[in-house]
Amino acid sequence: MADVFADLVGQEEAVATLRRAAASAAALLRAAAAPASRAAGPATPGPDAEDAYDELDVLADEFDTEPAGPDDPAAATSADGNPGAGMTHAWIFTGPPGSGRSVAARAFAAALQCVHGTGCGTCPGCHTTLTGTHADVRLVVPEGLSIGVSEMRALVLRAASTPSGGRWQIVIIEDADRLTEAAGNALLKAIEEPPPRTVFLLCAPSTHPDDISVTIRSRCRVVPLRQPPAGAVAEVLVRRDGIAPDVAGWAAAAAQGHVGRARRLARDPEARQRRDAVLAVPRRLTGVGAAFDAASALIEAAEAEAAASVAEIDEAERTALQTALGAGGTGRGAAGAMRGAAGQLKDLEKRQKSRATRAQRDALDRALVDLAGFYRDALTMALRAPVAPVHTDTAAMAGAGAQKWDAEGVLRRLEAVLECRAAIEANVKPRIAVEAMMLALWRG
Ligand SMILES: [Zn+2]
Repeated sequence: MADVFADLVGQEEAVATLRRAAASAAALLRAAAAPASRAAGPATPGPDAEDAYDELDVLADEFDTEPAGPDDPAAATSADGNPGAGMTHAWIFTGPPGSGRSVAARAFAAALQCVHGTGCGTCPGCHTTLTGTHADVRLVVPEGLSIGVSEMRALVLRAASTPSGGRWQIVIIEDADRLTEAAGNALLKAIEEPPPRTVFLLCAPSTHPDDISVTIRSRCRVVPLRQPPAGAVAEVLVRRDGIAPDVAGWAAAAAQGHVGRARRLARDPEARQRRDAVLAVPRRLTGVGAAFDAASALIEAAEAEAAASVAEIDEAERTALQTALGAGGTGRGAAGAMRGAAGQLKDLEKRQKSRATRAQRDALDRALVDLAGFYRDALTMALRAPVAPVHTDTAAMAGAGAQKWDAEGVLRRLEAVLECRAAIEANVKPRIAVEAMMLALWRG
C-alpha cells in the first residue's frame, strides 16, 4: 500500500529517519494525553504535557552533539520513558533541485498529522495535509526572489497558536534559502523558543551559510536528500504516472535526477521541444551573429516558458481579488474602498511581476543545466570515461564534439555554461550572461 512516503524516490535513508521521528512524535502525543499510564508507580506522579515537551527541547540540542543516540529505532518507546527521541521542532531538508525536498517535507507533515501516527496516506490527517487543506499545516512558497519579514512575522505568530486538530502546528518553508536576512531573524526567534506543538520544516539546496544562516542551521536537524538515481526516477514514472518504460527511462536520464522535470519531459511535448532547441545550440554556433541569435532564442524561450507557467495563476488571482473587492460597488464608503482596492491591485501586480522574474530565471537555469549536460557528455567521451550519457538522444553529436574540440576544449565550454549559471545567480542581467556564454562556446 502506498503511504505518504511512496513518492520520495530513491531516498531510503531519509525516509527511515522520518518514519522514526513520526513514530516518536506520535508517542509524545500519546504520553501527553495519558500521563498517568507512564508513571513508574502509584506514588510517583506522571509527567504532564509540559514535561514531555521540555524533553523535546532537550532533544533538539542533543541532535547536534550526539546524532547517533536519538537515531536508535528503539528510542521512540525506550524503557527510560523518553517519548521524544527521534523528534524535534525544526528540520532542514537539503538536496539538489528536484530531489524531492518539498515532497519530503509534505510527507513528513502528513505523517505528523496522521491519526495513526504513521503517514498511512488514507486517513483525513494525511489526506488534508497532502492536498494542502489541513488547518494546522501552512506552506510558504516564495513567489518572488525572497521571503520578506512581514510575511515571516505573520507566519510565526500563527504558528504559535494551539493546533486545532490536537496534534501539531506545522510550517513548511520551501526555498528557505530565499529568506531575507530580517525574515531569517524572525524565524530564528521562533525556532530558538519554539511553542510546544510547533514544527518548522525548512527546504534548502544545502546547509552552506549562503543558503541557511549558521544559527538557524544549528537549531535544526538536517535531512539530506540525494540526487535520485535515474533507475528509481524511471520506476516511479512508470508506477505512479503510467508512463511507458522506454519513455520513462529516457526522460529520467535526460532530467538528471530531477523528478518533476522528468515527468514533464515524459508528458509534455512542448517541454521536449524546448529541450531539443537548447541541445541544438552547440551545432548552431557557426559565427558571432549566430552566437547572438542563439542567446536571444534561449532568453526568449525562457520568457515564453515562464509566461505560460504563470499566466493561469495570475489571471485567477486577479479575478479573485476583483470579486473580493466587489468591483463596481457604489454608495457610501465606495470611494474609500476604491482607494484601498487600488493599493491591493498594485500589491498583487508587484507580487506577480516578482514571480514572473523568478519563473524566467528558473526556466533559463533548467536550459543551462541541459546544455551543461551536453558538454559533460562530450567531456566523458573525450576522456573515454565509462559512464552513461545524460542525453542519450544527442550522444552522437556530443561524440562528434569530443573529437573536434578535444578534452580541454570541451572542458572550457562546460565551464562557460557553469559560469553563466553562477553569473545569473549573482544577479548579472541574464541576456548579458547568456551572450557572453554563447560567444565563449563559439570561440571554444
Ligand atoms: Zn494517516
